[in-house]
Amino acid sequence: MLEQAKRLRAEVDAVHALELIGVLRHLYWQQPRVHGRPLAEAADFHLNDMLAVIGPAPSGIFCADCGMELLRTSRSWKPPARYGPPLCPHCLSLEHDARSRKWQVESLRSRIVAEARVQARAMDWRAAAELVLAFPPLSQKISRGSAADQQEGVWHGWENARMIRNRLIAAAAAGDDSVGVAVDEAQLLVETALRVADWDTARTRDIVDPITHEPALALLTRLN
Ligand SMILES: [Zn+2]
Repeated sequence: MLEQAKRLRAEVDAVHALELIGVLRHLYWQQPRVHGRPLAEAADFHLNDMLAVIGPAPSGIFCADCGMELLRTSRSWKPPARYGPPLCPHCLSLEHDARSRKWQVESLRSRIVAEARVQARAMDWRAAAELVLAFPPLSQKISRGSAADQQEGVWHGWENARMIRNRLIAAAAAGDDSVGVAVDEAQLLVETALRVADWDTARTRDIVDPITHEPALALLTRLN
């Protein structure tokens, strides 16, 4: 069969002569015992060029979305979409587009959520911030940048509280003034405050009482 391919190649002028292509196509797709590379070489092709010229073959596998039969582009071809039902290239790219649109929507959503502001009274924020600042990470024997710090983010939480307190002071916000705090900062503040609030309940009361008469845990639970 290789000899036949070679002879045909010698007889035809144009590489793309229909008869030659028909024979190559038959041998490649229907005669698995004829190896692809020697076949291409017998016909004076590089393997990939020959595959491009003879074209794909039906695979017997159908696109799960549109039902079109998938085409094998070589003997070693495997259906795309390894993690789901097989899809044709068209449906695969539609799915890809849909997935990246979904990702864009999700990242936009999380950005909007992160920038959203939680409204509460200035005294509530102030009490939570002062509480965190009264129990600095050093009292937990955690030094800045240590593994425990990075794992638990205590310094980050402490600095977040300081930033919020400084902002309240700079804005001269106090008492019942309504103040908005970005949701991720607010969340970190409340989490950090909840962590320290019951360490030393007497001290917690001493810190929070001058600012608001609401018990610390009730206040933090409400903010949360
Ligand atoms: Zn499809």
